[in-house]
Amino acid sequence: MKTTLPTEPIGSIPRSAQLLAAIQGQLSPAEMETHYEAAVIDTIQRLEETGSPVITDGEQRKSSFATYCLDGLQNLTAAGVVIPFHDGHTRQLPALSSGPFKFGRYAVDDLRKAKKIAQKSLKQPVIAVSALSLLYPATEIKGYSRAAFMDDVVRECIKDIRQCLDEGVSVQIDFTEGRLAVKLDPSKTLLKSFIDLNNLVLQAFTPSERQRIGVHTCPGGDHDSTHSAEVDYAEFLPELFQINAGNFYVQLSSETDRIKALKIMQPFATGPRRIFVGVTDPISARIETAQEIKDRILEATKFIRPENLGTTDDCGFSPFCDDISTSRETAFAKISNRVEGNALASQVL
Ligand SMILES: [Zn+2]
Repeated sequence: MKTTLPTEPIGSIPRSAQLLAAIQGQLSPAEMETHYEAAVIDTIQRLEETGSPVITDGEQRKSSFATYCLDGLQNLTAAGVVIPFHDGHTRQLPALSSGPFKFGRYAVDDLRKAKKIAQKSLKQPVIAVSALSLLYPATEIKGYSRAAFMDDVVRECIKDIRQCLDEGVSVQIDFTEGRLAVKLDPSKTLLKSFIDLNNLVLQAFTPSERQRIGVHTCPGGDHDSTHSAEVDYAEFLPELFQINAGNFYVQLSSETDRIKALKIMQPFATGPRRIFVGVTDPISARIETAQEIKDRILEATKFIRPENLGTTDDCGFSPFCDDISTSRETAFAKISNRVEGNALASQVL
């Protein structure tokens, strides 16, 4: 084996029925902590059993990939931006009702607890500043301008990332709203403003720190449905790579035309940039075989050199904690096969 391709999960693993019952119950913080701790121990153990060299805590403690940082905040209403999915269901973000904006909880809180359990390298997913920018309501908050909010949210996102880097792990910024932005605004003004905002956060870091920071893109994945899969990658990926990060985690296996997507990525797979392509589809119940995953990876190597390539899942398996459309068993089986397929491909590179 000349090259072992890096392979990493995106982040979330479906919560067990027991954990979900506890979340929905009226438990004390101490009782909840017992449940969360047990869920993280089991999830990390099972992720390590897949052989994955990099793991997460399965985001067992997160209400969702986007809202973990809002836990405990009192200055929110339920009436924020609505995200429609193709199957007709929606997710609604909260909206800020007063300033100042400060995180209620940081990703590093979960990371420090996971570090005590994990034997393998951890990656910590965090939410993108562009997603949180949507918390500010359409009408100006009296005494707290949008500009003041933007200063606060940028500072908080920098702090969220900085604390995780200081723990020695790599960080993944979840940017699911990127592709959605092209659907909402085909002029790409919204997407470009999102990218500028993320670069404003990233410029707080040194070039070597940015090599430990990645960006995840996907068309959304909730209740086995997406929100922006129809957006042409040709309209999106060249813009995505303007983000000043070292790693990119790109949904690919569920793309209708993978070769086209790979051709779009090819000119950006240069220098120290590493593109992790999705080789399993979390919203499909079918478990991809290791051989099939190997073939997908070798297909990708026709366009991206091994030194610029990595493999991942298309998305997390349960970005919102109440999404039980995929079982834990299916998630771990897909990850095991990804790790095996990645090893098979690496043997012939
Ligand atoms: Zn995703």
